[in-house]
Amino acid sequence: MDAVSRRVDVALRGLRIAAPVHREAGAGPSDDGHVLWNGEQAVIPVKADSPYLVSGGRLLLDTGDAGPIDVGIDVAPVHRPRFYDLTTADGTSYEQIARLHGRNVLATTVVQTCVRYDEDQRCRFCAIEASLEAGATIAVKTPAMLAEVARAAVDLDGVEQMVMTTGTSNGWDRGAKHLARCVAAIKAAVPELAIQVQIEPPRDLRAIRDLHDAGAESIGIHVESMDDAVRQRWMPGKSTVTLDEYRAAWAEAVRVFGRNQVSTYLLVGLGEDPDDVPRWADELIALGVYPFVVPFRPLRGTLATDVDGVPAPSRTILETVSRQVAALLVAAGMLGSEQKAGCAACGACGVLKTAGA
Ligand code: SF4
Repeated sequence: MDAVSRRVDVALRGLRIAAPVHREAGAGPSDDGHVLWNGEQAVIPVKADSPYLVSGGRLLLDTGDAGPIDVGIDVAPVHRPRFYDLTTADGTSYEQIARLHGRNVLATTVVQTCVRYDEDQRCRFCAIEASLEAGATIAVKTPAMLAEVARAAVDLDGVEQMVMTTGTSNGWDRGAKHLARCVAAIKAAVPELAIQVQIEPPRDLRAIRDLHDAGAESIGIHVESMDDAVRQRWMPGKSTVTLDEYRAAWAEAVRVFGRNQVSTYLLVGLGEDPDDVPRWADELIALGVYPFVVPFRPLRGTLATDVDGVPAPSRTILETVSRQVAALLVAAGMLGSEQKAGCAACGACGVLKTAGA
């Protein structure tokens, strides 16, 4: 098994590891431990029944009767960051305001509620309000709080970039206005911290310029799938935003932020035709948008898992699609590592980086 196949296999079968930096719920698809995989950031499902385990800093595959074998990869858990031990003057834990992703990414959801969270509107892979209900976070992070936490995360833990997302609001900006105020406050306190913002296409595209002018370097406008039937099934609320609205928002974002400073998620495993994914990637790359391919991951607290029981995608499909999209990105000279901030720059949730993109 080569490096890409192994990375895909572990992404789907998980890992037995004590991961102090761990995310159990939140916006988007994640239920994972954060590790360093041959030194690169990786987010892997933690599963007690996985055949993979870590011992002495090496990845081992438990083969049953023949015992564990070393498969030639270094894996180490990301350490709990020091900023998690701090609290604001009003007693809010920094960990409830922003979380460490991977080794050097600070991540936050500035508004942890979503106008689309009614059961018949919500994205079926999303658990944005579950971490709020569990008390792991607070509903609204203020600009001042975020600036305070970002300063500490950079000073104490060497954080280098920040990812800021938001639940969708009802307004013309779909949540971008508050996000822009938060970006401006963080940039005033920590000018060296590169920031990616993540939003739905705003009703008025000037929100994209406002986010850039506030200081964000990169932007994610996440479509998840470009098959309208899949979108309607999985994202009944969000699919009311048409693909043409996405295309207009991506085009404006590339105009404002630049080629390859704009990204979108493409989830594998929502029932799409796997041959469509590289076609969508092709269109996105031509626009200057990085298609960040990630597997759908079953996550407690989501409708997909708790109600529908949807499994993770097959290894063959995830591997084939990831290799195809990585090849397109490499041919276009669009690498995640060239994004200034964001999920494509981090790469931990997908296998594109292992595949060279
Ligand atoms: S890829 Fe995005 S969501 Fe995943 S760990 Fe990195 S920053 Fe977080």
